[in-house]
Formats: sequence, C-alpha cells, structure tokens
Amino acid sequence: MRILITGANRGLGLALAAEACARGHQVLAGVRGPGSSAEGLQELTRTFPEQVTILPLDVSDENSVRYACEQASARVGGIDAVINSAAILLGRDQKLEQLDFEQVEQSFQTNLFGPMIVMKHFLPLLRGGENQAVINISSEAGSLAGAYGGDYSYALSKAALNMFSAQLRRELAPQGILVHALHPGWIRTDMGGEKAPGDAAVSAEGILNLIERKTEAKNQALFIDHNGNPMSL
Ligand code: NDP
Repeated sequence: MRILITGANRGLGLALAAEACARGHQVLAGVRGPGSSAEGLQELTRTFPEQVTILPLDVSDENSVRYACEQASARVGGIDAVINSAAILLGRDQKLEQLDFEQVEQSFQTNLFGPMIVMKHFLPLLRGGENQAVINISSEAGSLAGAYGGDYSYALSKAALNMFSAQLRRELAPQGILVHALHPGWIRTDMGGEKAPGDAAVSAEGILNLIERKTEAKNQALFIDHNGNPMSL
C-alpha cells in the first residue's frame, strides 16, 4: 500500500511510518519542516530507502499541503491510505479564564483545519488508490461524553475533528473509502509524556491492521480505538 502519514518525524507518526515500512508498504512521510527533529525518520529512510519518501508538509499551511500534493503526484499515481497524525496540544491545564485565543486558533488550525486541508488536496490521489482508508488521529479528550473541563483548545479541536470525520465518511462511503476517527490510547510520546502506559508501536500495529483490513471496527463505529473498539463521541 501507499500510505501518507502526517507528522511522521516523531511520536505516533514515526511509529506508524516504521510499522508501515516493516510491513512492506510505501510511505509518504509528511514532516513540518527541515527544523523538525527527524533523526528517527532519517534512520528509517536509510533502512528502507526504496519505501520512504520524505515530503515537506505543514498541515496548517494550505500552500505547503498543495505543494506536497504536487510532489506526491509526481511520484505515485495514487495513494491507498491517509493517516492524519500531526497535532499540537497547547495550553495544557489552562482554565477558561486563562485561555489564550491565539493558542485556541493555532490548535484548530493544526488539529482540525490541518486534516481538512490535507484531505481536500489529497483526495484526487486517494481516489486513484485501492481499498482506501482515512484515519484521523483523534483523542478521547474530544469525547463529549468524557468532557473533563480542561485542555479546552485541544479537546474542542478533536471533537470538531470527529465531526469532520463523520462528514467525510458520509461523503466517501459511496466510493468504498473507509473513514475513522481514532483514539490511539495514552501513549509515550512527547505529547503523551513518559508516564503514559501505552507504547506508540503497539498503537501503530493496531492502526495498520485496520488499514490492511486484518481487523475491523466493531459495529463499523466511526470513533474507535486502535483495536477497533468503539469510543463514545
Ligand atoms: P507528538 O507531540 O509526539 O508529535 C506531534 C507530531 O505532529 C510531530 O511530528 C509534529 O512535528 C507534528 N506536527 C505538529 N504540527 C504540525 C504541522 N502544522 N504540520 C505538520 N506536522 C505537525 O504527538 P503524538 O505523536 O503523541 O500524537 C500523534 C497524534 O495522536 C496526535 O493527533 C495526538 O493528538 C494524538 N493523541 C496522542 C495521545 C498521546 O497519549 N500521545 C493520546 C491521544 C491522541 P514537529 O516535530 O515539526 O513539531
């Protein structure tokens, strides 16, 4: 399969790129910019030189996404899966009165508009793929049922991402394209922190199993975890 992964330079995105390579897939590895700490990704490129293409791709910048799409189109005639993993968590633990609305805007720009911009531009390439899947990496923080009165900008942007995923599923279902919003678990990454119980590599395995149709979401739920278990929207 040919798989586009955003935020592929570290964290879950990098774990997904590594797992996809190990399974023999072609990876279009979207990275925000040359400043991104991409040591792990460089190593992956050395190990799997035929399988990894690094694409400069800042999901919050439509021109960057447009250019990345042109670069991708020059390399592949289609893509089979898009994993929107790039995201930011700003203003952790801020209460409502402390909110910085520039951070709220940045969060929506990256976590919601980012996947929307990526899908807008990459949809024609995705239509040229086979057994296509779109996985929008969301979070249980975006669950209305689990609202906890914190991380406002992050939680609200992920709730909106879930709605975008529902809309996209409706639009793409007639073409047989699978769409999920997916909570990867609380995992040890820069965002999740060292105390997180989960391993990004394990979440990546589950996500790849879903994309490869080795497992499927229970009851075809829209919002699921990496094992395909339904989550409350
Ligand atoms: P990290 O903070 O470890 O990594 C975030 C990644 O997103 C980095 O590669 C970063 O690139 C990239 N990124 C941020 N902004 C942009 C942008 N504008 N354009 C392109 N790339 C960008 O996060 P995780 O790996 O932990 O998170 C991956 C996904 O999983 C996210 O969607 C997150 O919300 C979700 N998630 C994570 C959980 C956890 O416990 N870790 C729990 C629930 C959900 P750069 O290096 O350039 O900053």
